[in-house]
Amino acid sequence: MNYRTLVGLEIHAELLTESKMFCTCSTEFGGDVNTHCCPICIGLPGTLPVINKRAIEFAIMAGLSANCKIAKKCKMDRKNYFYPDLPKAYQISQYDMPICTDGYMEIETESGVKKIGIERIHMEEDTGKSLHTEDGSSLLNYNRCGVPLIEIVSRPDMASAAEATAFLEKLKAILEYIEVSDVKMEQGSLRCDVNVNVVADDGRKTEIAEIKNLNSFKAAAKAIEYETARHIEALEDGENTLKDTRRWDDVKGVTVSMRSKEYANDYRYFPEPDLVEMEISEEWIELIRKELPELPEAKKERFVKLYGIPVYDAGVIVSSKALAAFYEDAVSRAGDAKLASNFIMTEVLRRLKETDANITDMPFNSTDFANLLKFVIDGTISNNMAKKVFREMAETGKKPEKVIEEKGMKQITDESAIEEIVVRVISENPQSIEDYKNGKDRALGFLVGQVMKASKGKAAPQTVNRLIRDKLSNL
Ligand SMILES: [Zn+2]
Repeated sequence: MNYRTLVGLEIHAELLTESKMFCTCSTEFGGDVNTHCCPICIGLPGTLPVINKRAIEFAIMAGLSANCKIAKKCKMDRKNYFYPDLPKAYQISQYDMPICTDGYMEIETESGVKKIGIERIHMEEDTGKSLHTEDGSSLLNYNRCGVPLIEIVSRPDMASAAEATAFLEKLKAILEYIEVSDVKMEQGSLRCDVNVNVVADDGRKTEIAEIKNLNSFKAAAKAIEYETARHIEALEDGENTLKDTRRWDDVKGVTVSMRSKEYANDYRYFPEPDLVEMEISEEWIELIRKELPELPEAKKERFVKLYGIPVYDAGVIVSSKALAAFYEDAVSRAGDAKLASNFIMTEVLRRLKETDANITDMPFNSTDFANLLKFVIDGTISNNMAKKVFREMAETGKKPEKVIEEKGMKQITDESAIEEIVVRVISENPQSIEDYKNGKDRALGFLVGQVMKASKGKAAPQTVNRLIRDKLSNL
């Protein structure tokens, strides 16, 4: 029997507005406990929310970037539930009239580009945070209460953990590009829930399991793989899964049931009576559309056309806004777009991966990087040496010219100096000359190697090659 996995995602992104969704409190992360809150954001009786216009703009920007329709009319609703980190016992959210609907995003899969549907994007406010102490008490911090969020709900169009990861990465890149969220998963500004079920070839299918609050893409991928296996096993045993809400236990590598959906939530949504229905004009939407920056997809196409780099490389470079900016700046300074992208695709990305860092965390900037490339382009150092210089720059933050000077790495380009070494090496290796005359090409490589060694790797390789060929053909 074959099984198909259906994965849908719900992503919460905190918006980068300066003030909260319905009051003027700061949205800044951290701060002393319960200092970023007021009677409105903790919902004391008699307070009135006022909606943050910037938050609506951000939601529209996200919707336009994900090819959504923007509603001409939308409203806020109360979603009622009692939870200690939500002191007013309801959350202002959007129920049946979300601000954005019916969009899509394209992801790269093994079998090509795939469109993933986006059902809706709606606005809501964040909850506070509870902290459970070892002595059994619970502490509550309401600083996050009322921070504006968008929730992006995909259609169950992804068929594997890999596709879900591609979707999350694409979405994260888009939100980063349009600057509506800082997408820091470790600070909770991007959080994701995963819905998984499987369908067998004969039409039987499992009930959807919802895994809540995954705080990394890796955890989301692992949870999807775990759930897929669990659901297939159930169907193979002639059983089904329960429709339930689960959480991912990263230590044990399993999902655990939290509560059964049946009694979960009857949220009794109703329109928020303290806020009027919003009308969104076509002019406003067009104004926002015009201000959208170049998105990753467009940037990728431009990089391929303008710089002549491979589509794959361009895709990797534009996946981070900062890396794309770093690349463009380096190219504009050093001039060699292919050398820059090759270097980024190998040395730079390897370094970022090893140290689990972003390009902005590196102790050098795009000017230093461009200078390093310039030394390769003008022949001061070889490509191989450039890798060593780069490693030193990444470890110590030293300028490339300083590393080259300190390590005496300057390439020998003076032809007479190289010729001297070539002559010596040839006279010391009569056997190789014999081999070369007998048509063994390997002998040439050996001689080049000996010259490079004798020059401590500093002789310009092209010159060495040319001189050896000259000498040998004259023998
Ligand atoms: Zn407030």
